[in-house]
Amino acid sequence: MLYNGVDFDTYFKNYPDANGYFGKYGGCYIEPELKNAMEEITEAYFTICKSAKFINELRRIRRDFQGRPTPISHLERLSNKLGNVQLYVKREDLNHTGAHKLNHCMGEALLAKYMGKKKIIAETGAGQHGVALATAAAYFGLECDIYMGSVDIKKQAPNVARMKILGANVVEVTEGLATLKEAVDAAFKAYSQEYKDCIYCIGSVLGPHPFPMMVRDFQSVVGIEAREQFTQMTGELPDAIVACVGGGSNAAGFFSGFLNDPVDIYGVEPLGKGPKLGDHAASLMYGTEGIMHGFNSIMLKDENGEPAPVYSVASGLDYPSSGPEHAFLHDLGRVKYGVADDEEAIDAFFTLSRLEGIIPAIESSHAVAYGIKLAKEMGRGSILINLSGRGDKDMDYVIEKYGIR
Ligand SMILES: *Cc1c(COP(=O)(O)O)cnc(C)c1O
Repeated sequence: MLYNGVDFDTYFKNYPDANGYFGKYGGCYIEPELKNAMEEITEAYFTICKSAKFINELRRIRRDFQGRPTPISHLERLSNKLGNVQLYVKREDLNHTGAHKLNHCMGEALLAKYMGKKKIIAETGAGQHGVALATAAAYFGLECDIYMGSVDIKKQAPNVARMKILGANVVEVTEGLATLKEAVDAAFKAYSQEYKDCIYCIGSVLGPHPFPMMVRDFQSVVGIEAREQFTQMTGELPDAIVACVGGGSNAAGFFSGFLNDPVDIYGVEPLGKGPKLGDHAASLMYGTEGIMHGFNSIMLKDENGEPAPVYSVASGLDYPSSGPEHAFLHDLGRVKYGVADDEEAIDAFFTLSRLEGIIPAIESSHAVAYGIKLAKEMGRGSILINLSGRGDKDMDYVIEKYGIR
């Protein structure tokens, strides 16, 4: 399928290019000593991860450990309530650890093992990536250092406990505001000293090449399964698919299965409290081109051109940029990016819980909220939503802040 000059029949061969670019976005903007480390990972990716041995081992792990394939559920009661559009969800909440993140963490950790690395390191904000990576480290018997700001350590006590129980070493970062940005800096600094023995595992389709490509490819299992399952269930493709976009990993993997199909694709960013800078994290909607954390993309900047403070009720979505592939697909128009705000997400959180018996993550609730809006607009047809994770982690917060609706 040709779309605005891009041939989607050969898309995955050509994007990203050899230097990690999706059009003008992506690349590898990183200090010289880490360039070698990135090249080593890129080369290992193309040799090891494309070998039958690696692929078969990862397939076995996905089936026997992660519990894949995750099902698709038809949201019958919600669909009936909305009218003639049929809504479906791909159940990444049923993936082991309760979200999609383990899909790329198991891939990254398996690669680390094949490369003979002893340790994996990463940063975490809300702790979701840290927990998924600590799980993978335990499974493969790798050491695991997770850098986390002291402010986040206090806020995310249950996830800190999980990481420690799983045997990870949680490294407290006290510099600056002591949140995600400082944790990223500290983790990269440690990595540049230790890269011979360890690999850095990025938590989304972000960072320098090859990570946006690698994380997308490890997440593509979601899109591949979803396309096959949906056509088996209904005999056709969905008319539209929807996923929430923080860094963009669940969306990138899910979308990859449908880019070459006549399917409308929607990415949903968090509008938070509203369109004022600082009140949201809708980077593709309100951002401009720029470089941060090792890659070129569209991002929200403050008056000095630094990453702007961002906010969303969903801690997994509050990042001031999105992966370079999303910036590319946005410019191209192949994927349409919309928003859902805090209120809409919380409404959808209760709607899905009440009508379907599925408590979604607040991140995923943004996609559900958008799917409901879209259903009202479309009037007929089918929509498949990627339910990126379960909402158990959010229950206390929702009850405390919003009460029972
Ligand atoms: C982390 C997280 C997200 C956001 O990350 P992406 O890379 O944009 O997918 C979405 N949903 C859940 C449940 C998460 O834990």
